[in-house]
Amino acid sequence: MKYAVYTLGCKVNQYETQAIEAMLRERGFESASSGADVVIVNTCAVTAESGRKSRQAIRRLQADNPGALTAVCGCFSQLEPEEVAALGADILFGSGDKHDFVDAIVKALPAKSVDDPFKRRIFEPLPAGAVSGRTRAMLKIEDGCDNFCTYCVIPYTRGRVRSLPPDDCAAAARELAAEGFREIVVTGIEIASYGKDLPVKPGLADAIEAIAQAAPGVRIRLGSLEPTVVTEEFCARLAALGNVCPHFHLSLQSGCDDTLKRMNRKYDTAGFYEVCERLRKYFPHCGLTADLICGFPGESEEDFSQTLAFIEKCGFLFVHAFPYSVRPGTKAADMPGQLSRAEKEARVRRAGEVIARMRREYLQSWIGKTASVLFENAHMGHSGQYCPVQVEAAAERGTIRDVLVTGTDGESLFGTLTDS
Ligand code: SF4
Repeated sequence: MKYAVYTLGCKVNQYETQAIEAMLRERGFESASSGADVVIVNTCAVTAESGRKSRQAIRRLQADNPGALTAVCGCFSQLEPEEVAALGADILFGSGDKHDFVDAIVKALPAKSVDDPFKRRIFEPLPAGAVSGRTRAMLKIEDGCDNFCTYCVIPYTRGRVRSLPPDDCAAAARELAAEGFREIVVTGIEIASYGKDLPVKPGLADAIEAIAQAAPGVRIRLGSLEPTVVTEEFCARLAALGNVCPHFHLSLQSGCDDTLKRMNRKYDTAGFYEVCERLRKYFPHCGLTADLICGFPGESEEDFSQTLAFIEKCGFLFVHAFPYSVRPGTKAADMPGQLSRAEKEARVRRAGEVIARMRREYLQSWIGKTASVLFENAHMGHSGQYCPVQVEAAAERGTIRDVLVTGTDGESLFGTLTDS
């Protein structure tokens, strides 16, 4: 049997698709670009645009594979099951129960199994997935979110926080190390809340310690972090491990305190800036990246100017800036002061100018320094800080090598191997 698959959205979705594929392959399925027996779309609902793209992907895969069974899962089908059913989904799941989803595909029985996400209590362990060939693997340690930011539908699609116990995190990391992966990306929907559902309430640092100690020769990279988890103790414990990448992706969303309050975020800009300084103290010259929503309801020109000044002060390596997207059913959707699409996009472009300048400055600061690079192919890899690095001489894929940085084009670093 053959399957064709398309994934939208975040790293967790990518991870879960890789797990679905691994389970299908175990059962004798093969991937195919055409003539598939089943088409699978793992959907996303984080923005209205992701919903539109999810619908488009379902239609496209159906057209490319006439007669194939249509199997749909993910956040968009969790939120809009009727709409996905109307697109002709034969197997329709939400964002949970990937094992059952695969079972339903294998049995090729129509099943409408969108559950109630708030009743989920158990973390569903899935096979860990590979990204970038065989060099980097993702390890999902947490699902769900209890934060209810006013713009976000995720708590309604993914349900409450559920965590993989530290011993299981360690066992999964050990397996990935034994399979030869050189980097593990620790991921989840809201990993800062890791452990609050478990009996002895371990924290994220406990999970990271378990993973890092179980895979001592492997780089550990953290997925997106809520800044409030980054305390002195958290930094000290991670820095002591020695194999945690000096790259931290922080959910900023806005650099204006009023906007952060209306978003129901749990920090202010002063606290966020302290987190950046703290990370730099324990991980000198670390790469900091962030997410930013432009044009949140009620965001004035003055608020947005504060945000631009704030991101520049933080000195990020990269910021993923995107326009605010109305998600029906969320508090922000009913807030006054909704901005036009053109204004939101103009703000994204203005943020882009600041972001490009910051990136160039950060990359330039690496010239003359030595970066530790994991090579994804002979001439290209990523440093621990997550800077793309290119070299002329060939390095072996999957090796971690020292590179003396000699230049940058504002996007990537260029350099020479120094440890051959
Ligand atoms: S922390 Fe906020 S933005 Fe992130 S998943 Fe939870 S509710 Fe959504």
